[in-house]
Amino acid sequence: MARYIGPVCKLCRREGEKLYLKGARCMSPKCALERRNYPPGQHGKEASFRRDRKSDYSAQLREKQKARRIYGVLERQFRRYFEEASRRRGPTGANLLELLEMRLDNVIYRLGLADSRAHARQLVNHGHFDVNGIPTNIASYGLRPGDQITVHPSSRKLHYFREIRAYMAQRRTMRPDWLAMKFHSDGTFTATVVRPPERSEIQEPLNEQLIVEYYSR
Ligand code: SF4
Repeated sequence: MARYIGPVCKLCRREGEKLYLKGARCMSPKCALERRNYPPGQHGKEASFRRDRKSDYSAQLREKQKARRIYGVLERQFRRYFEEASRRRGPTGANLLELLEMRLDNVIYRLGLADSRAHARQLVNHGHFDVNGIPTNIASYGLRPGDQITVHPSSRKLHYFREIRAYMAQRRTMRPDWLAMKFHSDGTFTATVVRPPERSEIQEPLNEQLIVEYYSR
């Protein structure tokens, strides 16, 4: 599946807030938003003075773009998620966030196994994980309650996975309650999706109602 391969700090600067797309750098003074807190482009500085005057449409569009950028999903796939969310029972906005959260790359990130969702996506694409014992290298793979994630046997000897606990300790991501993780005596682990996340457990600064309004125009 295609993905955005352009400069990611520009995306944060466009939205005017940290989207944490780069892992450790986002927490350092090198963060582009700390140094240039205005939209990218030739007229970015002038545009920053106009930020407060947003139309309804602009607010809806920005919220949708922000969600896409946080989860690393392109427009066509994001629209498909929205259509699936609107077919399901319950509030469409909450369904949409649930679908995004249950992606395999997002779950790897939430477990603290990767620095960012882009990093998680790369780990998945490189075939480092099995889902229910089956090698799975599709970042958008939709997990279900009860699914178990393990490191693929041939990847277990890699330094990264042997030292994974040390890496996890350095990360800002805290494993949420809807995911469980059990380390075994040989250093390997099994992660389990206990249930879908509740809205209150999704801390991303998103107003899903604006996204629903955007697609319902
Ligand atoms: Fe965004 Fe991270 Fe870049 Fe800062 S360093 S602008 S938070 S991606």
